[in-house]
Amino acid sequence: LGYHFDKNKISSGSNFAASTTYFPHHETITTLVKELKLEGDLEFDNIHHASKDFGNRYHHLPAAVLYPKSVYDISSLIKYVYQMGPTSGLTIAPRGHGHSLEGQSQAHQGVVIDMESLAQSQDMHFHIKGEKPFVDVSAGALWINILKESLQNGYAPKSWTDYLHLTVGGTLSNAGISGQAFRHGPQINNVYDLQVVTGTGQVVTCSEDMNSDLFSSVLGGLGQFGIITRAQIALEPAPNMVKWIRVLYTDFITFTSDQEQLITSNGSFDYVEGFVLINRTGILNNWRSSFNIKDAVQANRFFSKGKTVFCLEISKYYKQEDAEAIDQKIETLLSKLNYNESTLFISEVSYLEFLDRVHVSELKLQEKGLWDVPHPWLNLLVPKSKIHRFANEVFGKILTDTSNGPILIYPVDKSRFNPFTNEWANSGCILSEMGRVKLFGQNGNGWKTKTSMVTPKEDIFYLVAFLSSAMPSSNGTDGLEYILGQNKRILEVCETANLETKQYLPHYTIQEDWKKHFGSQWEDFVRRKFTYDPLAILTPGQRIFKKAI
Ligand code: FAD
Repeated sequence: LGYHFDKNKISSGSNFAASTTYFPHHETITTLVKELKLEGDLEFDNIHHASKDFGNRYHHLPAAVLYPKSVYDISSLIKYVYQMGPTSGLTIAPRGHGHSLEGQSQAHQGVVIDMESLAQSQDMHFHIKGEKPFVDVSAGALWINILKESLQNGYAPKSWTDYLHLTVGGTLSNAGISGQAFRHGPQINNVYDLQVVTGTGQVVTCSEDMNSDLFSSVLGGLGQFGIITRAQIALEPAPNMVKWIRVLYTDFITFTSDQEQLITSNGSFDYVEGFVLINRTGILNNWRSSFNIKDAVQANRFFSKGKTVFCLEISKYYKQEDAEAIDQKIETLLSKLNYNESTLFISEVSYLEFLDRVHVSELKLQEKGLWDVPHPWLNLLVPKSKIHRFANEVFGKILTDTSNGPILIYPVDKSRFNPFTNEWANSGCILSEMGRVKLFGQNGNGWKTKTSMVTPKEDIFYLVAFLSSAMPSSNGTDGLEYILGQNKRILEVCETANLETKQYLPHYTIQEDWKKHFGSQWEDFVRRKFTYDPLAILTPGQRIFKKAI
C-alpha cells in the first residue's frame, strides 16, 4: 500500500459529534460523477433511506448514495476521495441491509454505498465438487437469498444469524453468531476468500494464505479497513427438515449446565440457544408461530406473575428419509437433560422455515406497525465464570419483566469448531459423531484468533441479547428512555462487579471506551487502520476514527 500516513491526520473518536464541521458541497460530488464515469449511479435524491437503520435512533443524511454496478465503481469512488487528500472531509460508508442499531452504516454528508445494488449485478457461483464446497457471492447479497439458491443445489452455509435479511458484508463486519456457532464458529470463521476494496481504493483478494492480515482485519472489522465486495462462504450438504424443540427450566444453574453440556459434547443437537422469560403470564405472543397453539397453552401453565423461567431452544436437522431414526436419537439426547417435566414442546418444520423463522415475526410486527420502532438493543458476551453473577444482578432485579422484547442467552465455546467437517456428506444425516470426534482437536483449532472481533478471554462465554423494542412517544416502561436507562444499569453492573463482559455489535462514542473495548487488540486495530484506510475515509458511523479536517 506504500502510503506514508501522518498519524496526526486521523484523530480517534473523542470529539466525534461536535467536530464534524466541514460538509462537502454537492459540487464536489457532481464533479466526481463527471470524472468517474461510473457504471452505476450516484444519486442526490434517492438517499433518505440511507439515513435510517433498524435501531431507528440515529439519522444522518448523506450527501449522496452510490448504487454501484461493479467493484470498479466502488474502487473508483474511494480512489477519488483518497486522492482528494485528508482535508476534503468526505467519508464513505458501505450500507448492507441497514440493520445496524446506532447509525453504523450512515455517513453524515458523505457518500453511502448501497451494497445490495452491487449484488443485483453479480451472480452467485457454486463450487460443490471439491472437499471444501463453497459459494462465491456478492457481499451485498442477503443471506436469505444465498440460502434459497444453495438449497436448490442441495447445500447450505453452515453458520447463521437468527435473522437472514441481512447482507454478507454486514454480518461479516461484526461476526454473525447464532445457535450453530458452538459447532461451526461464527460466520467469520466460515469464509475462505474475500475480495476487498481498501480505503485507498485498491481491490485486493485475501484469505488465510494470501494478504492474510487484511483478511483477518476485515472479519469483525466494523467496516474500518475496507469494503468487502465478494466472499466465498463454506457450504455443507443441506438437511431438509428440523425438529425444533423447547424445554423449560425454573433453575438457572440447571439451565446453564444443560446448555454447557450440549455445546461441549459431540453428537449433540445442531442448534443451541435459549431465552429468559420474566414475569410473563401469557406466552402466546412470545412463542414463535411454528409452535402449536396447544403447546403455548400448556406452557402457560408453567408461568406465573413474578416468576423467571428459562427456555432452552434446540434443534436437530435431518433428511426426510431418516425421519424414523431421528426420533430415537432425540429421545436419547433429551434423556440427558434436566428440564422441568411436562415442558417438552417439539415442532417439525422445513430447514428453510427454521432458518427464516424471525422473518415470520417481522411480517406480523410490520402488519401492526411495530417493526419500524426504535430498537435500543444491548448485546453482551459474558464469560462463563461470571454468568451466574450476571443473572443474579440482572434478571428479576434490573429487569423485572421481559415485555419489551426477547432476551436470548446461550453459550459458545471458542476453543471448539471445525470448518471442514462435512457431516452430512460423510454420513447421511446423524451418524457423523465419529468423524467429528476425530476432527476436533486436529483441524478444529477453535475460532480464528486474528480477526478484529473482540471476545472475552475465557473460551466459553454467553451471548446475552436484550432485544428491546421501544414504543414511540411513550414515557413509560416501554419507552426509549426507560429502556436505555435499564441498559445503562446493566452495563454499570458489568463494570462494578468486574464481570469482564464485552459488547457485541459494540457502540461507543469516545476513544477511551473503544480502547477499553479492544483491550490488547487496540494497538493492532489502529495499525490496521493506518495501513488499510490511512485517511479514515471508511465507515464513520462506527465513531472509532475521524477523518482529519
Ligand atoms: P448494515 O447495518 O448495513 O452494516 C453494518 C456495518 O457493516 C456498518 O458499519 C456498515 O458500514 C458495514 N458494512 C456493511 N456492508 C459492508 C461491506 N460489504 N464491507 C464492509 N463493511 C460493511 N447478528 C448476529 O450476529 N446474530 C444474530 O442472530 C443477529 N440477529 C439479528 C436480528 C435482527 C432482527 C437484526 C436487525 C440484527 C441482527 N443481528 C444479528 C445483527 C446484524 O448481524 C448486524 O446488525 C449486521 O451488521 C446487519 O447487517 P446489514 O446487512 O444490515 O449491515
